[in-house]
Amino acid sequence: MPEENYQLETLAVRAGSVHSQFHEHSEALFLTSSFVFDSAEQAAKRFIGEEPGNIYARFTNPTVTMFEERLAALEGAEQCVATSSGMAAILSTCMGLLKAGDHVVASQSIFGSTVNMFNNVFKKFGVDTTFVSATDVDEWQAAVRPNTKLFFLETPSNPLTEISDIAAIAAVAKGCGALLAVDNCFCTPILQRPLELGADIVIHSATKYIDGQGRVLGGAVLGGKKLMEPVYGFLRTTGPTMSAFNAWVFLKGLETLKLRMDAHSANALELARWLEQQPNVARVFYPGLPSHPQHALALKQQKTGGGIVAFEVKGGKAAAWKIIDNTKMLSITANLGDTKTTITHPATTTHARISPEARAAAGISDGLLRIAVGLEAVVDIQNDLARGL
Ligand SMILES: *Cc1c(COP(=O)(O)O)cnc(C)c1O
Repeated sequence: MPEENYQLETLAVRAGSVHSQFHEHSEALFLTSSFVFDSAEQAAKRFIGEEPGNIYARFTNPTVTMFEERLAALEGAEQCVATSSGMAAILSTCMGLLKAGDHVVASQSIFGSTVNMFNNVFKKFGVDTTFVSATDVDEWQAAVRPNTKLFFLETPSNPLTEISDIAAIAAVAKGCGALLAVDNCFCTPILQRPLELGADIVIHSATKYIDGQGRVLGGAVLGGKKLMEPVYGFLRTTGPTMSAFNAWVFLKGLETLKLRMDAHSANALELARWLEQQPNVARVFYPGLPSHPQHALALKQQKTGGGIVAFEVKGGKAAAWKIIDNTKMLSITANLGDTKTTITHPATTTHARISPEARAAAGISDGLLRIAVGLEAVVDIQNDLARGL
């Protein structure tokens, strides 16, 4: 693709450069674990990095490379490293960039497995993590130690849609010489581009909106070329590489990402407004609503409120379960970012392993439900929820 100042919609469809001798129009799926060299000399040059080119699919694969180039163009990143899952992206980032004795400051409102990774995996290898408020920038500053190397956040948070001020937290990170990594899974580059706001690293679970149809697992790490070198180095050596088939699915997912994010967002806003009108709903959490405490910040750093809506029903767990069990269409599952609307009761599923006290402190009440709004007609989603409400 020529170097032009293309819009996101165009990059989503066309960015990426690998074409084979067959001049295929639709990006090809290269199912091969290794690549053949013309000569012993070429093999030697490839292995020592003197000549670019594919060697082995744990290192690179043309379909995966096309996905990386396209996502990098969308995020405005120099380099993208595709991984086998979103968790593998976080693992590769930390293993590539941290060492024993380093310290991490992370938002307490991040994905549950990410919390476990910091608390249970990295701690074993001598990396300590301090968890702070997603929204109070002063807490980030106060948590900094001389050995702080990484800030980690996710915005909007799951399930309460808290908004972290990326630019403000990036400024704190810069001030203390730490890197800021942003898990951009909920917004995708269509709605939010953290690198433009001062973040150093963007992380994705491609499993969610980038696939968009709930088919395959994958992830990505994006940032500057120099910064991504050790991340890629970890991946190449240890193997949490994205499969070529999954990369091909994600490439096709990217082509419709703009249309889908706009449609998810429009449906979510309409559903959130409707939920606010329901007498049995105590509170709605959606960054696109003026009632959201960080509505102004959300619309400054995101294009829309996104596709995730949470709400608290009066009557606690019994009332929440009644809504779930009276749906006929919504999928009762913890996944999100799918064309199909999903409904989750965080207190007894995604957040069940946290103590009731910690759950209460995090604001996850027993009456809370999370909806990942899909692409069905909003009226059908409303009718499905109205039965239990
Ligand atoms: C799902 C998710 C992850 C983990 O991604 P996997 O692809 O399931 O490994 C990380 N962060 C967020 C915000 C997620 O929603």
